[in-house]
Amino acid sequence: MEKETLRNKEAKKITLIGFWVNTLLTVFKIYAGILGGSGAMIADSIHSLSDFLTDMVVLLGFKFSEKPEDDCHNYGHGKYETLATAVIGVLLFFVGFEIIKSGIRNIGAFIKGESLAVPGIIALVAALLSILSKEILYHYTIIVGNKIKSPSIIANAWHHRSDAFSSIGTLLGIGGAIILGRRGAILDPIASIIVGLFIFKIAYRILTPAINELMEASLNKEDKSKIKEVIGSNKEVKDFHHLRARKIGSGTAIEFHILVNDNLNIKDAHQVCDALEGQLRSSFGESSIITIHVEPFNS
Ligand SMILES: [Zn+2]
Ligand SMILES: [Zn+2]
Ligand SMILES: [Zn+2]
Repeated sequence: MEKETLRNKEAKKITLIGFWVNTLLTVFKIYAGILGGSGAMIADSIHSLSDFLTDMVVLLGFKFSEKPEDDCHNYGHGKYETLATAVIGVLLFFVGFEIIKSGIRNIGAFIKGESLAVPGIIALVAALLSILSKEILYHYTIIVGNKIKSPSIIANAWHHRSDAFSSIGTLLGIGGAIILGRRGAILDPIASIIVGLFIFKIAYRILTPAINELMEASLNKEDKSKIKEVIGSNKEVKDFHHLRARKIGSGTAIEFHILVNDNLNIKDAHQVCDALEGQLRSSFGESSIITIHVEPFNS
C-alpha cells in the first residue's frame, strides 16, 4: 500500500513537470512564431498547444469524470473525458488543415516569384529551446517510467521525444531560411506543412479511440480475457454467457449471465456475485459498474 502511493506520487510529479515545461514552451513558441513571422514555428507551437490541451483533459477530466452518478447520469460522468478528447481531436484536424493550407499558399506565392519574409532569429531560438527541453524531458521521464514500470509514463516519455523530432524539422526549415535568406524562404512553409501532417497524425490518434468509446466499442481482447479468467476461476460458476463490457471514461461497465447449481439458495448465489464483483473491481477499478444475471444449472 505504502509503495503504491509512492509510485503514484512519482508518476504525478513527472507528469506535472512535463506539463509545466510544455506550457511555458507553448507560450514562448507562439510568441516567437508570431514575432519571428515563422509559419513553421506557429505550426510547431500549435502542436505544443494540442499537447497542453490533452494534458488539461487528463488533469481536469479526473475531476469532472469522478463526479458520482446522479439522477440525470445513472452511469456516472466518465464520458465527459471522452467527449472532451473527441472535441480536441476534431479541432486538431481543422488546425492541421489550416496550417497545411497556409503552407501551400506560401509555397505557391514563392513559386510565382513573390518574396516571402525570412523568419526572425527568435523563431530559431524557440526551435532550439524546444528540442533541448523536450529531449531532457524524455530522458528524465523514461528513467522514472522504467523505475516505476508505468506504461503510460513511458508512453509520455516517447511523446516528448517525438515532440523533439517534430521541432528538429522546424529548426531545419527556419535555420535554412535564415541562412539562405530570400532564396531559402520556401523552407519555412515546407517545414510547416510537415508539422501540419504530424498534427493530422496526432488528431487521428486522439480521435479514433474517443469515437470508439462513444460508439460503445467492446473492451480490448486482453481485458475481456481477464474478465473471463475471473469468472472461470470461481468454482460455483458452472458456465457463463452474454458477456458485454465497455469503457466509460476511465471506468468500465461489465455485464454477464452466470449459471450456478439450481439447489443453491439466493443468499449463496448472491455471495457468488459479490465475490465476482469484488474481484473484477480490484482489476478494473472500484467505480466499475458490474451487473450479473443468475441462471439455474441442473446437473
Ligand atoms: Zn506532442
Ligand atoms: Zn442468459
Ligand atoms: Zn448485491
